[in-house]
Amino acid sequence: MKVPLLDLKPQYQSLKKELDEAVAKVIESQYFILGPEVKAMEEEIASYLQTKYAVGVSSGTDALLIALMAIDIQPGDEIIVPTYSFFATAGVVSRLNAIPVFADCDPVTFNILPEDIEKKITRKTKAVMPVHLYGQSADMDAVMAVAQKHNIKVIEDGAQAISAQYKDGRYAGTIGDIGCYSFFPSKNLGCFGDGGVVATNSQELYEKLVMLRMHGSKIKYYHDIIGGNFRLDALQAAVIRVKLPHLNKWSQARRDNAALYTKLFIEKGLASESGMTSFDDNNKVLIPKAVYENTGHKNHHIYNQFIIRVEKRDELRKFLTENEIASEIYYPVPFHLQTCYLELGYKKGDFPNSEFAADYSLALPIYPELSEAQITFVVEKIAEFIRK
Ligand SMILES: *Cc1c(COP(=O)(O)O)cnc(C)c1O
Repeated sequence: MKVPLLDLKPQYQSLKKELDEAVAKVIESQYFILGPEVKAMEEEIASYLQTKYAVGVSSGTDALLIALMAIDIQPGDEIIVPTYSFFATAGVVSRLNAIPVFADCDPVTFNILPEDIEKKITRKTKAVMPVHLYGQSADMDAVMAVAQKHNIKVIEDGAQAISAQYKDGRYAGTIGDIGCYSFFPSKNLGCFGDGGVVATNSQELYEKLVMLRMHGSKIKYYHDIIGGNFRLDALQAAVIRVKLPHLNKWSQARRDNAALYTKLFIEKGLASESGMTSFDDNNKVLIPKAVYENTGHKNHHIYNQFIIRVEKRDELRKFLTENEIASEIYYPVPFHLQTCYLELGYKKGDFPNSEFAADYSLALPIYPELSEAQITFVVEKIAEFIRK
């Protein structure tokens, strides 16, 4: 049985007529850059997220970059970021000649450790960038408390977490100063190419974000600040508008898949419960934990990825590949051990939780249209490998 990591075709087939019509409408209008589709999408996203403003941008990476520009990050400023995330989180800091300062992650949620943020704060610290990794909100109460105490900004990387809810019901990405989201096709809400959006409740930041997106101009050809071309295509906005009403349903399907994986791993004796952090005979597989599950909010985890940890991770991955089961390693090298950051002077052992995650994590297929038979097959094959 073939089990791909992600198959976007069934989702497209289920909405083909609406999507094709929406795209055709944009083509008919020949209005490709920003315009009414982007404006309507921004209003719908802001209304969904319950923020005052949303601004469509060219990608999730550019969402992070423009957010840092909006809070006026200057060369030499320090921004605290988790060392275990997708590279964009740190890359955008360096692109502004600011300095990414790394923090370790929580061993259960993989999200930034608030106590580590406080340790890294200096006079140069301007902001912290929590990432809502794999579709679950970071511990925002603790992050906000540290940020407020030290008067630094909070830019949330919600690229993997649009629609995920924090324990109080607020959406991940709407709690700090600016939330950044990606519409990359593999995210829970994906467009037909690159795209993203930023959300904020601050009118001042909103106005600045809109200017920065258009080379820093409010009035065409008059430039008050230096921005860039961070615009979103109308075609992408039209696709997002068709898909947004289905987002909660897709996230629920991912949660159902995660629940099935969890049940099967426990039934097979490979795991004892969710959220364990070290291997033993009853926990050959460490399965993820939705820490806000009992808060009564449906979207407590949107499982952009379902991450297990296993000791012989690379051998297991090879075995799964031989059995036509796709998997992926997110992320094999934390930022502090990346070649491009050697000059920052970190070493192996500096961030044990992140290094543990990087060494043992494996992402299993979790997309909404996966069948029960496919998930059962994946767990059976993992059991077979472990018992070998
Ligand atoms: C995908 C992702 C990004 C970047 O988004 P793009 O749209 O691919 O530029 C940033 N941060 C995280 C955590 C991501 O997963």
